Amino acid sequence: MRLILTFFKAYPTQSIITLVAMLLAGIAEGFGLSMLLPLLGVVINTTSGAESLAGISPSHLERYVNGIFAAVGLQPTIGVLLAFFVGCIVLTALLSLLANKKVGYMVAQVATDLRLALIRALFATRWEYYVHQPIGMYTNAYATEANRSADAYLYGIRVIALLLRTTVYAAVALLMAWKETLIALGAGFFILYILRRLVTKAKKAGQRQTNLLNSLLALLTDTLQSIKPLKAMAREDMADLVLQKETNKLNRVLRKQVFSKEALKALQEPLITIFFAFGLYVAMIWWHIPLATVITMAFMLVKIIKTLQSAQKEHQTMVIAESAYWSLVSRIQETEGAHEDLGGTIEPIFDESIRLSQVSFSYGDKPVLRDISLNFPQGTFSAIIGPSGAGKTTIVDLITGLLSPQSGRVWLDDLDLAAVDLRAWRRMIGYVPQETLLLHDSVQMNVTLGDPKFSAGDVEDALRAAGAWDFVAEMADGIDTVVGERGSRLSGGQRQRITIARALVHKPRLLILDEATSALDPASEAAICATLRQLRGTLTILAISHQTAILDAADRAYRLRGGCAHLIEKNAAAGGEVERHGPSA
Ligand code: ADP
Ligand code: MG
Repeated sequence: MRLILTFFKAYPTQSIITLVAMLLAGIAEGFGLSMLLPLLGVVINTTSGAESLAGISPSHLERYVNGIFAAVGLQPTIGVLLAFFVGCIVLTALLSLLANKKVGYMVAQVATDLRLALIRALFATRWEYYVHQPIGMYTNAYATEANRSADAYLYGIRVIALLLRTTVYAAVALLMAWKETLIALGAGFFILYILRRLVTKAKKAGQRQTNLLNSLLALLTDTLQSIKPLKAMAREDMADLVLQKETNKLNRVLRKQVFSKEALKALQEPLITIFFAFGLYVAMIWWHIPLATVITMAFMLVKIIKTLQSAQKEHQTMVIAESAYWSLVSRIQETEGAHEDLGGTIEPIFDESIRLSQVSFSYGDKPVLRDISLNFPQGTFSAIIGPSGAGKTTIVDLITGLLSPQSGRVWLDDLDLAAVDLRAWRRMIGYVPQETLLLHDSVQMNVTLGDPKFSAGDVEDALRAAGAWDFVAEMADGIDTVVGERGSRLSGGQRQRITIARALVHKPRLLILDEATSALDPASEAAICATLRQLRGTLTILAISHQTAILDAADRAYRLRGGCAHLIEKNAAAGGEVERHGPSA
């Protein structure tokens, strides 16, 4: 019920329109049904010549119907009644069509809205939060959970519609014979009560499905991302085993759902039959009610109970999907809670330098940088070298504002980076990460990342600047060549140059290369170093490496070790380097 209320709050107008259409459809159908008793009365009157309907006095409803016909000047003859009956059913069908179309559109809308909310929230998170998120869970939330949430909405709306329909039928039936209707309603609810455990079981299985899908997808994405070493060492069996175990768990849960659903369906029918066999017996043998009346009543009352049972079935399907909705919503809320603070509003210029001043940074309680001061003057080519794990990437993340220091400041010219509009600053940065991931798309797309403002000329310029033009021009379709899944059709060096072109295409003011040349052969690295030397001056370069080729190419360099940084003063005359200790800036 909470789910239905939540959906109604989220989509009030749409849901109400849908429900009104469904309710009208129900009323039209109920009205069609209400024709049935007078119809039967007319049939029996004309065939048997009896005074009143099947031996019982005309009910309120009949009088009411007769009254309506009298008011519009029509005789309730068989022909008129049948035409009316058909009219009601056609109207029901039309209204149902309208309502179902509306529901279908709403269901798609619910899924779309949830997906967009998730993506928006995810892209806006703090970097520290993002890197700790299992990506598989987000894929799962986006694909399966959004779908199942929409299902939950669909079945929720159907439950309400069916309950409304039951109410309409019950109202009609109450007018005809209130005692029998009350008994039937009592029996209907009693059957629901007996079968309620099957709904609870299904709900639990749905909850398990939600949890399993989340952990399974997280595991699957992790495994698929590291499949190469697994295969190369013939260890894929291990991953296979774990995945199989989880997948089989999922299978068992799905079977439980199937069982609950089928058991509910299978038990509903006999229970209602038992009730009606008993009812018929009582009505005909004990109360001596004529067959025609019993049949009409039975028709009405079975319809009521069956509608009620359908509501229970749809409710069961709803609760199976329901947990996916709550899981997705809590993921969206949690993700929104990890919203990144985008700093201030000051537009950056970057015409002097970017500096770290007495910055300390730790991940949790693990200190990485201790009171370090670094200076990267505008237009220079600087390098940071240091062993793996020294905190080089952390420095880059502090400069791009993805992380903020626990103490000390990052200065952009004379502005504290905390006061700068971070997105504006990041637009001035070209970034080449350690792991090159290319899109399964053309070279052009990989360079522009889909931004239509870059022309083919811009792409060519960027590729030339990155030293990638020669090999791209040689490929069959030039910049339209599709590079294969994650760039698998290119060598490591070629992929790296395409990512450098990507970082250059928007003409950044600061180019950051985080171990971008580490995976390259010396010749390729030398070529890229030469390219970087050419670019220096037009833009500021910060290259990070644990290799020395970059060190030779750079104007200035810091060595990072044990959380401290030292400026390496490059002494060209002596052909060597002197390391200056102590705080440096
Ligand atoms: P480098 O780039 O020099 O290899 P990093 O800056 O990536 O080093 O990392 C410095 C240290 O911080 C490493 O010991 C690493 O394990 C740790 N570290 C990096 N990122 C995180 C993180 N998100 N959470 C916790 N520890 C991290
Ligand atoms: Mg690193």
